[in-house]
Amino acid sequence: MREIQASQITKVIRDLFIDANYNLGADVLAAFDRGIATDESPVAREVLKELKENARIAREEHSPICQDTGLAVVFVDMGQDVHVVGGNLRDAINEGVRQGYKEGYLRKSACHPFTRKNTGDNTPAIIHYDIVPGDKIRIMAVPKGGGAENMSRVHMLTPSAGAEGVKDFIVNRMKEAGSNPCPPTIVGVGIGGTFERTAILAKKALLRKVGQRNPDPEIAKMERDVLERINKLGIGPMGYGGNTTALDVFFEVEPCHIASLPLAVNVQCHANRHKEATI
Ligand code: SF4
Repeated sequence: MREIQASQITKVIRDLFIDANYNLGADVLAAFDRGIATDESPVAREVLKELKENARIAREEHSPICQDTGLAVVFVDMGQDVHVVGGNLRDAINEGVRQGYKEGYLRKSACHPFTRKNTGDNTPAIIHYDIVPGDKIRIMAVPKGGGAENMSRVHMLTPSAGAEGVKDFIVNRMKEAGSNPCPPTIVGVGIGGTFERTAILAKKALLRKVGQRNPDPEIAKMERDVLERINKLGIGPMGYGGNTTALDVFFEVEPCHIASLPLAVNVQCHANRHKEATI
């Protein structure tokens, strides 16, 4: 059994949330460049240049890409041969979030749902655990902004809806969302499982890099089809029109009940923040 200090996990979480909020991924920046080169709308091309410039300033001046620095979502792949010592895993993660949001000067967005009283330190983190083979811990930090999250939906389709019903629902969702999720968006889609599982699949889909297709060729084709349809909606970057409304669409698919076709659409904004580390 390999021992890992809780304090090490705290440090990694702290650094990941600061890094994610300051440094937009190279895959997203490259997708901005493709839009700048190809979007038919001059206004859209200008907006994409502004988004790229915003990301440059954040990176070079060590400041957040967006004022909404998100709720702290954490995915943990926990090796079954790891023993956390010197504290427990949940507390270690929350302490990392606390330190990261304080020391990185990141806005604290977590509050009570009714009183709206801020918890003061952006905890508790939303933590998803998976137990995996091995003696390592893989940690993925996802600061998730409220605007895009509000546009997300879970819907229990009937099996007869089929692949076309799934695609129509996603495209209609993005049409209704319009400029609210600060496009160009990344669209995470969960299909199958149960009500709660499909939502986690959709969130997990957002961890992929732009351009990384589902390994199943049929599913990959659905991703490309939906991306093309969303980009024909004309919403464009930040809603100013154009054909760069989404940068990518990711499907994660699992078996479901014979009576169900669960579907979740988790919308991510252009501030597509996620960083990971393995201890
Ligand atoms: S949706 Fe994204 S870009 Fe828009 S305000 Fe929220 S975090 Fe910022």
